Amino acid sequence: MIVFDRVSKNFGDLPVLRDINLTVSAGEVISLIGPSGSGKSTLLRCVNHLERIESGSITVDGDLIGYRRVGNLAHELPEKLIARQRARIAMVFQNFNLFGHKTALENVMEAPVHVLRIPRKEAEEQAVKLLTRVGLSDKMNNYPRMLSGGQQQRVAIARALAMKPKVILFDEPTSALDPELVGEVLDVMRDLASDGMTMMVVTHEMSFAREVCHRIAFMEGGRIVECGKPAEVLDSPAFERTRAFLSRVQ
Ligand code: ADP
Ligand code: MG
Repeated sequence: MIVFDRVSKNFGDLPVLRDINLTVSAGEVISLIGPSGSGKSTLLRCVNHLERIESGSITVDGDLIGYRRVGNLAHELPEKLIARQRARIAMVFQNFNLFGHKTALENVMEAPVHVLRIPRKEAEEQAVKLLTRVGLSDKMNNYPRMLSGGQQQRVAIARALAMKPKVILFDEPTSALDPELVGEVLDVMRDLASDGMTMMVVTHEMSFAREVCHRIAFMEGGRIVECGKPAEVLDSPAFERTRAFLSRVQ
């Protein structure tokens, strides 16, 4: 579903992603772990072309992201086509990024109505279903400021689902939450995983990574240092650097 082929990215002189090769299968849930600054967010942002890669390629469901090939050259796609690709690649952020002046229901309806041009009534019916699915049937008319962090993040996940995404990218979805609110968001993510959604999840929640993810990739210095089944990476890492990181976070 997602293929990174020799992906490299620099910020100025700083190499941030170095020769990333990774294939995420349909229905697979993969978590990215690693120290701050190792390139995890940048890797996710490249998948929907929020960052431009310098070399290599990323494909999602067979579509080359951000570019079209002309002979040996790659030309950046026009903004309209990039927007079309992004519409099916959802991203969920640490800080929810909801529209503050819209209710939960309106937040979930926004993109289907304005991007996909679905009739309002249909979008509303879908939004009601999605908010019910994430356990918020009684909060549909609340504005974000009247919701807890965990509830806001669940609205953000419902909003992501409203676009019927091929993949969902989560960047530290629970890092801004009070500890007692983390579980309700992870429960929703667990439900999506068991429903077969393809997900890449940057997280510090090692128990979630162990129980829900099919594979864990450990990043450091812009490289995927190791990638494997949770038990392999967490319990018997092949590399000393992975071991050192895990001893700090577990
Ligand atoms: P992580 O998510 O693993 O903490 P990031 O992908 O955010 O790491 O960052 C990787 C590296 O790229 C860091 O050294 C960071 O300072 C740098 N970086 C990230 N975004 C930018 C940017 N827009 N401009 C310059 N450097 C950046
Ligand atoms: Mg980050």
